Amino acid sequence: MSARFKGKFHRQNMLSHFAKDLVRRSRSHCELCAKNGVKLDVFELLPLEDEPFLNGCIFICESCKKQIVYPKKMVPSYWRSLNNSLWSEVPAVQVMSFRMLRRLTKKEERWAEELLEHAYLDPELEDWADLAE
Ligand SMILES: [Zn+2]
Repeated sequence: MSARFKGKFHRQNMLSHFAKDLVRRSRSHCELCAKNGVKLDVFELLPLEDEPFLNGCIFICESCKKQIVYPKKMVPSYWRSLNNSLWSEVPAVQVMSFRMLRRLTKKEERWAEELLEHAYLDPELEDWADLAE
């Protein structure tokens, strides 16, 4: 078994351990779009640290995840829920919401620009948000 394979396995294993806490934190609602009754997955924010950590993860549905991973598939109107998730108590959810709003402003979505103008992130979260798209 290669070291890289073991590393990946270890990571998956740790992430699956986070799921129980994330079910509680999210109350089984997607932390970005608030959908419930759908399959939710642990998603790590970039850039990845050597060891995954709970507060670096969000718990999200397939539709959100697909649009995060494949920006070309992003449907702007889908993301109106950022209006709520931006004010989440969970720092990683705030950071991911902020990043998605930035992506939307690049598509010249006016509502996203307005939301971003009124958004407030702690300076350290803004630094985190700046580390990836
Ligand atoms: Zn979602």
